[in-house]
Amino acid sequence: MNDIEQLRAEHEALIQFLYLAPVGLVQADIDGGIVMMNPISAQLLMPLSRDGGLDNLFTALEGVAPELRHLCAGYGRTSGKICDGLHVHLNAGGGGKKVPQILAITLLKLDARRLMAVIDDVTLQVRRDRQLRQNDAWFNAILTGITDYALVGLDARGAITEWNPSIGRVTGFAEDAVGQPYSIFYPPDAMTPEHLLDRLRDAERDGWSLDEGRRTRADGSGFWGSALIAPLPEREPPCGAEPEGAAFCLILRDITDKRDASERRRREAFGDYLTGLANRRAFFEAAEQELTRSKTVPRPTAVITLDADHFKAINDRYGHPGGDAVLQHLAAILAETFREVDVVARIGGEEFAVLLPSTDLPRAAVVAERLRSAVASQVVHFDGERIRYTVSAGVASIDNGDGGIDLLLKRADQALYAAKRAGRNRVERWRPELAGAPVHQPEVHEGDRDAA
Ligand code: GH3
Ligand code: MG
Ligand code: MG
Repeated sequence: MNDIEQLRAEHEALIQFLYLAPVGLVQADIDGGIVMMNPISAQLLMPLSRDGGLDNLFTALEGVAPELRHLCAGYGRTSGKICDGLHVHLNAGGGGKKVPQILAITLLKLDARRLMAVIDDVTLQVRRDRQLRQNDAWFNAILTGITDYALVGLDARGAITEWNPSIGRVTGFAEDAVGQPYSIFYPPDAMTPEHLLDRLRDAERDGWSLDEGRRTRADGSGFWGSALIAPLPEREPPCGAEPEGAAFCLILRDITDKRDASERRRREAFGDYLTGLANRRAFFEAAEQELTRSKTVPRPTAVITLDADHFKAINDRYGHPGGDAVLQHLAAILAETFREVDVVARIGGEEFAVLLPSTDLPRAAVVAERLRSAVASQVVHFDGERIRYTVSAGVASIDNGDGGIDLLLKRADQALYAAKRAGRNRVERWRPELAGAPVHQPEVHEGDRDAA
């Protein structure tokens, strides 16, 4: 075999491999221009295409993984792994699909001019992982030397039933804690009354419910704590008496020492690199959980989607770093405006979404309007320039989780589109006349619009 034949044979073998590989493989040039892709990657990426074409990897993924382009541009070495198994959530706008799909993307730099992306559908693994993480936290809670913990009795509504010295030691609360909801151990705004009940229902259903996060003491100081709730075995009521209803035990621990490592890991996986807000993945996980729960403990849930107005013009005038400064400014106002319990996330390039548990449409619209006017009244100082910008927002809410996050986001996006059309720098609420209207989100494909 001469050299040319040898090369051709190797090339054939490579193509065969590409076609038969059980994962998506995409070869691209350094700017993301797609040179070659196998059928699996076409299948996985096609729903992201805006115009039915797939010629640039970064453009295709812009709406769901805007960081990829930056990661690649910022990668200094001539070859190596740019990112490893980056999780990307694909279900905005939905098309009626209930289960969100999750892709893991590994991006390799082959040399100065070529990239290779490995794309895998990891939807099922992620769900299993989440279960494992829960189990992990549970083992942690029982295995690591429990020396200091508060043992709190709760009634069926989550009110504290009696005081004991362990409560005083860990939280500083005195006997007047009795009769108050256990959310007094959480920062103000971190828990709605419905969330309080959710945890009790979870404990009843699964035998326990555990969460880790910020807690507060009686003096207002904070600590990082784990809270394990377990149902107590039902006691037989005395002869002739009414049954007492369920009772629970809450074990509260101060785990500030262990917090740093796990918090860093959490931030890496669920945080947006540019703004520090939750990322798309965190938004969908939280939304899925909230809406599933709002089926058992009924309540409305609202979503606000926001998109910076004429953002291309801001980038054109002040450069990409100027645009980034605006996004960081917007993120800071968002973080200030919303409650601790709300999930504020950057879900695309200059698109943000906020999930508001236990909130109806009028209340969400009031907050969205407050945010819009705050943005319109401020300036961003960047590089000696004063940048003014505005945002448009769409607001929607659903009752009892009906239709899921797909429907909720779709409606908010239809309202956002209406706000853009009505002149921008506006908040629009979803109303039934918008049901067939286009959505603002770019990555929704034609089929979804018909399904409205
Ligand atoms: P509209 O009022 O209709 O929203 O107009 P627009 O110019 O904002 O249009 P569009 O939403 O389509 O433009 C989004 C722009 O945001 C295009 C993209 O280059 C830019 N962008 C996306 N991600 C980033 C980012 O991380 N940083 C910066 N600086 N720009 C980004
Ligand atoms: Mg925009
Ligand atoms: Mg946009």
